Amino acid sequence: MDESVVDDAGMNEVGMGEGARYVDGNAAAGAFAEAFGTEVSASTLTCAGCGRAGRFADRHVYDRGPGMVARCPYCGEVNVHLVRTPTDVWLDLRGSSSWRIPLSG
Ligand SMILES: [Zn+2]
Repeated sequence: MDESVVDDAGMNEVGMGEGARYVDGNAAAGAFAEAFGTEVSASTLTCAGCGRAGRFADRHVYDRGPGMVARCPYCGEVNVHLVRTPTDVWLDLRGSSSWRIPLSG
């Protein structure tokens, strides 16, 4: 048996304590509009964590990490993670069981 114990002490999660600051979904709407090709702040998301539905604009958005994270205002689940590179936008939507996006026009 190998001594391949990995010490992950240096890999702490980004602090989510009292000091963590967030903005509301409206502040992130531009980045998401770019990715989706449409305005999303009026969308309704259903959280995969607690099952509650609510407006994108009411998500708690943390934009200080790599990319942008929008969390459920009820349970704190990460509903969506967006990372923008110079050439692409990466979206991780596993924290939301559905998105209902109103069609414009
Ligand atoms: Zn939730």
